[in-house]
Amino acid sequence: MKNPYRSNRWVKFREELIELDGGTCVRCGKTRQGGATLQVHHKKYLTGKAPWEYPFELCETLCKGCHAEEHGEIRPSSEWEYVGEDDLGGLYGACDRCNTAIRYVFFVQHKNWEPMAVGTVCCDDLTGTKIASDKRKYDERLTRFIKSPRWTEEERRHLIEQKHIEIEIVPAIGGYRINMNSVKGKKIYPALNDAKTMVFDFIESGKADDFFKSKSDEPA
Ligand SMILES: [Zn+2]
Ligand SMILES: [Zn+2]
Ligand SMILES: [Zn+2]
Repeated sequence: MKNPYRSNRWVKFREELIELDGGTCVRCGKTRQGGATLQVHHKKYLTGKAPWEYPFELCETLCKGCHAEEHGEIRPSSEWEYVGEDDLGGLYGACDRCNTAIRYVFFVQHKNWEPMAVGTVCCDDLTGTKIASDKRKYDERLTRFIKSPRWTEEERRHLIEQKHIEIEIVPAIGGYRINMNSVKGKKIYPALNDAKTMVFDFIESGKADDFFKSKSDEPA
């Protein structure tokens, strides 16, 4: 699966835009050195795009005050759309809605408001879904699987049985390969955890069941 947790794309995007705008609010010229909080304003709303996927031309740097003026006072409390997530690797973020310190950031956007970076609870609230809490639960289970004491190692092969499937992760040139129930996988995963993540996704998504079912349906 694509791993969304490699870089903090939102912070990178925001800092690049602020730099492009000369480190100042484009309306009033305030700077961080002058005590202003600089934010990214999206001039236009693009459906389904994460806030960091917008072209820079559609964004501008505003201080908190100018930004509030731009959007008016009342932030919509429903009909927000989930657009992406990030793992900051520690409690380095703050929820844009309730200001709680957060590690797992969920991005939500609204046709009448600025995209926000919020925590799990606020994401569920604003979108009226369980997308964020379900993702957190999934990630927690994935982490438990990766660290499970049930993994054994034999001659650099990593073995586990998960939901009646015998899994073997074997070293290969450039990384690791996966064997499941003696079916040899060809794809190379650069790191052991990438291979374990792939195994977990494959089994959890039900794809493994479908795969081995179709295998057993094949004439011998
Ligand atoms: Zn804005
Ligand atoms: Zn300003
Ligand atoms: Zn919050």
